Amino acid sequence: MQTQRLRIAIQKKGRLSKECQDLLKRCGVKFNMVGERLVVHAENMPIDLLLVRDDDIPGLIMDGVVDLGVIGENELEEVALERTARNEPNEYLKLRRLDFGGCRLSIAINKDDAYNGPQDLQGKRIATTYPQLVKRYMDEQGVKFSTCMLNGSVEVAPRAGLADAICDLVSTGATLEANGLKEAEVILRSKAVLIQCTNPLSDEKQALIERLLTRMQGVIQAKESKYIMLHAPTERLDQIKALLPGAEDPTVLPLSQDNNRVAVHLVSSENLFWETMEQLKELGASSILVLPIEKMME
Ligand code: ATP
Ligand code: MG
Repeated sequence: MQTQRLRIAIQKKGRLSKECQDLLKRCGVKFNMVGERLVVHAENMPIDLLLVRDDDIPGLIMDGVVDLGVIGENELEEVALERTARNEPNEYLKLRRLDFGGCRLSIAINKDDAYNGPQDLQGKRIATTYPQLVKRYMDEQGVKFSTCMLNGSVEVAPRAGLADAICDLVSTGATLEANGLKEAEVILRSKAVLIQCTNPLSDEKQALIERLLTRMQGVIQAKESKYIMLHAPTERLDQIKALLPGAEDPTVLPLSQDNNRVAVHLVSSENLFWETMEQLKELGASSILVLPIEKMME
């Protein structure tokens, strides 16, 4: 069912929801999350946000029920494999990887078990929420195994005697450690991604998606960049530029009171570390300012 308004499915509550809402707001989409609504209308653009469990997002896209979705690659790939196995529609377009939701899907074993490679998992039972991704990995390795499907508390399965190993999402590894487990194999590195359904959309919707993408690029790039200003001795300009990431084309301005020094302004592609600032100072730079950038468009 096509609607005039662009429909974007996002996670209602969980690890992706805050950053996802922040990203849309920074892209200029105005909305107000109130109560337990399933659909939230943007106030200033023809966009509706659909707030759902993350498990539902890939299917909503693959069935063409919503136009865009934000989802972790782990969930997206698991659902795509599951649908392939069931002969259901499994197509989507990946528009861009986002800068949040980073984690890895890893196989972990008891911390005292020896581990020399995937063949050590031969015949083991692996507890997981991602049976399809585990199967794809184990098939690639040519290792036979069995699964124990769990939707929560996967990390306690070995201790509870339900499985020999687990395959679960890890970010710091603290949960594994707390449960007496160690990471044996990383089978997928995941981030949140923006996906689109493959149904052709109206020209208006497609144009709106292009605009959102350009803005997202600007927002993400701005977050990773800094505006740097400093005063430098003219004779050391080249050495100073060499220390600054992305300083191929800085703005160099004369200083009204000083003929031997100039003001240098530039957008750096990364943050400036204290060590670099100290080196700049040693080269005679002064008044060094590192400022955050809110938006950029090239
Ligand atoms: P829902 O109620 O929507 O089904 P959920 O419990 O399945 O939520 P969350 O725990 O909120 O999901 O995680 C959502 C996504 O966040 C994960 O699928 C993954 O892509 C990403 N993520 C990032 N870091 C982690 C982490 N340390 N552990 C789990 N997921 C993480
Ligand atoms: Mg979920």
